[in-house]
Amino acid sequence: MRGVIVGGGVIGLSLARAFSKLGYEVVLIEKGFLGRGASWAAGGMLAPQAEGLSGAFLDFCLESRNMYREFAQEVMVDTGDDIGFWECGIISPAFSEEDAEMLKRRVFNYNKMGLRAQWLSRDELETAGYILGKQIVGGAYYPDDKQVDNRLLTNSLIKFVKSTKVNVMERTIAVMINTDKGRFVSVKTDKGDVSGDFCIISAGAWTGEIYNIKVFPVKGQMISFRQNKRDLDKIFYSKKAYIIPRKNSNMVLVGATEENVSFKAENTVGGVCVLIKGLLETFPNMKNREFTDKWYGFRPTTPDGLPIIGKTDTENLYVATGHYRNGILLTPITVKLLVDLIHKKEESPYLNIFNFFRFNQIEGTRNKSQ
Ligand SMILES: Cc1cc2nc3c(=O)[nH]c(=O)nc-3n(C[C@H](O)[C@H](O)[C@H](O)COP(=O)(O)OP(=O)(O)OC[C@H]3O[C@@H](n4cnc5c(N)ncnc54)[C@H](O)[C@@H]3O)c2cc1C
Repeated sequence: MRGVIVGGGVIGLSLARAFSKLGYEVVLIEKGFLGRGASWAAGGMLAPQAEGLSGAFLDFCLESRNMYREFAQEVMVDTGDDIGFWECGIISPAFSEEDAEMLKRRVFNYNKMGLRAQWLSRDELETAGYILGKQIVGGAYYPDDKQVDNRLLTNSLIKFVKSTKVNVMERTIAVMINTDKGRFVSVKTDKGDVSGDFCIISAGAWTGEIYNIKVFPVKGQMISFRQNKRDLDKIFYSKKAYIIPRKNSNMVLVGATEENVSFKAENTVGGVCVLIKGLLETFPNMKNREFTDKWYGFRPTTPDGLPIIGKTDTENLYVATGHYRNGILLTPITVKLLVDLIHKKEESPYLNIFNFFRFNQIEGTRNKSQ
C-alpha cells in the first residue's frame, strides 16, 4: 500500500513515520523544507489545562497529553536524540483579583474532574523563588501540563523519515487532488503527479489551497532571550504572554501574538512590544537578559477552532489539520486516529466531532480536484 502525505510539519512527519513503521510505502510532499512551518514556530507547550480547555476537546487534548511520554520516548529511541520533553508544569499568574477569581474557579472545576491543579498565593510563589511583577496576586499551578522542544522534535522526525524508506519530496508544491469517480488517484504537483492508494493532507494553514477544506492562518509572533542561570523551572502562562524555559538550553521563549492578517510575513514592532511588555510585567528582573531572536508562524485554524481529522468527500482522501494552538500537543492522538482509521479500519468517536463534513455538508464540493 502506498500512502501520499502532503505537508511536512509535525503532523505530516509523524504520520509518515507511523505508516512507514507499519510497512507502508510512503511519499511525503513538502513545498519548502520539512518542519519549517508552524511546527518550527511553536512554543511546544502541552498545556490543555493552562489553555483553560473544557468539554470533549479537553478530553481529546488530555488523552494526547497522556500519550506524550511514550511518544517522546519512542521518537528518542528512533534517533537517539533528546527532544526536550520536560514534565515541568505550568503556572498561570493572575494580574488582578478578577483574574484570580477566574483561575480559582478553573482550579476548582479541574479538581472536581479529578485533574491536578492548585492555587498558589503570591507569598507561596515568592517563597518558591520567583521574583514577580508587582501586579501579580497569585497563580494557578497545573503540574501535569508540560512541554516538548518542538524544533528538536521536528528535527528528530526529519532525521527518522530521511533515514528510512520514506520518499521525501521537498521543494515540491502540491497543487490539487486528482480523482476518478469520487476516489483519490494522485496529487498533482509542480513536478508531476504523485499517485497512491490513499492520501492524507496535512498542509497546516495552507491546506485550503489544495482542497476545499476550511482552514485559515492565525499569525503568531514569538521572541526569545537567554537566561543567565536557571531563573525559571516552570512555564509561566498568562493572557499577557507565555514564558517557556527549555530543558536543554538557557534559551527562554516568549509568545505569542494572535493576529488575523492572513499570511502577512515578518515580525512587527507592535507584536514584539506586546511580548516584551508581557514578559516584563511577569518578571521585571528579566530586563537585562540578552535578547536572542524573533520569529513568527501561522497556526492552522478552523471556523470553530477545532481540528479537522479523518475522511473527506473523496474516497481514500483524508485530512489532518486545523490544530490551531495545540498541534504539537495533539500530534500523538491525531496519528493514532488516522492509523486506526486507515490501517485498522476503526473509527474513533472523536472523528464524529472533528469531521470534515461539519463544514462541507454538501457532496460535490471538489472544486480543487478533478
Ligand atoms: C507562534 C505559535 C505558537 C504555538 N505554540 C504551540 C504550543 O505551545 N503548543 C502546541 O501544541 N501548539 C502550538 N502551536 C500550534 C502548532 O504549531 C500547530 O498547530 C502545528 O505545528 C501544526 O502542525 P502542521 O504539521 O499541521 O502544520 P505546519 O507545521 O505548518 O506544517 C505544514 C507543512 O505543509 C507544507 N505545505 C503547505 N502547503 C503545501 C503544498 N501545497 N504542498 C506541499 N507542502 C505544503 C508547509 O510548507 C509546512 O511545512 C503554535 C503555533 C504558533 C504559530
